[in-house]
Formats: sequence, structure tokens, C-alpha cells
Amino acid sequence: MSHEGIRILSEAEAKREAAADVRLPADAVTPAKVRVMKSEGTGVSIDWKDGHRSSWSFAWLRNACPCATCNEERGASGREVGAPKPRPGGPLVLYEAPPRPVEATPVGKYAIRFKWNDGHESGIYSWDYLRRVCQCELCKFARDTKE
Ligand SMILES: [Zn+2]
Ligand SMILES: [Zn+2]
Repeated sequence: MSHEGIRILSEAEAKREAAADVRLPADAVTPAKVRVMKSEGTGVSIDWKDGHRSSWSFAWLRNACPCATCNEERGASGREVGAPKPRPGGPLVLYEAPPRPVEATPVGKYAIRFKWNDGHESGIYSWDYLRRVCQCELCKFARDTKE
């Protein structure tokens, strides 16, 4: 018999713990319903088991690609997750088709993978990742007010 599971936290400790990116509860990272609005071109929405709902535009998701290459590029350019790449100035305007997936496939039980219309397909978006980057006002506010 072990008592290791029992911990007594002070209020301050408990708050710090809650604010840190600790493991999310299983229901928060388990989708009940995933909608990929491919033909509408709007984006993805997920109803989570805990009753929360998240949605993202395809452009946001493309710019939040979690693959190593995109991560590195964002790190080097200081671009935030989900933020669009800056467009070069000057009179030449290149029209690019807005990002949308040509394919969306589940990866095991834990993630979804998109093949984008620009050919990129190395990003594996885990449910955990997606829940952490939920764009609803509540989650954004919670992240902004953190520390
Ligand atoms: Zn990528
Ligand atoms: Zn949210």
C-alpha cells in the first residue's frame, strides 16, 4: 500500500499547478465529434467529451502545423502558432489559394493528419495539441492571463 498519490497543496501551489501545462484530463483531449468542413472550406470543429467546443479555420491550422520543419521556421522567424507568414512588400502580389486540406486522416486514436493543398502533409495534430491551442474566447483568455 502506498500513499504517494496523496499530496497536500497550499492554495498558491495549487494555482501554480493549474496554470502550468500539466496533463489535461482525458475527457478534455478526447473528441466526441470531429467535423472537417472540407467542401465548405471553413475549418475544423471538435466537440470534446467534457462538453467544450473548439474550432479553427484551415488557415490557422496550416500556420500552426506542429511538424519539426514548421516549428523550426516559426521559432526562427518569431511567428506565433497559427499566425500567417508575413507577405513580402512591393507591387508584386502573388495570389495564393487559401489553405485547405485535400485529405484529412485519423492517426490512431490520438491525432489527425492533414494533407494540405500546398502539398505539405507532415504535421500530425494530436487531440492534446489541438485542445491546448483552442481558439475560443475562454481558452484564449485563460492562456493570456497565465502568469
Ligand atoms: Zn509542417
Ligand atoms: Zn476553448
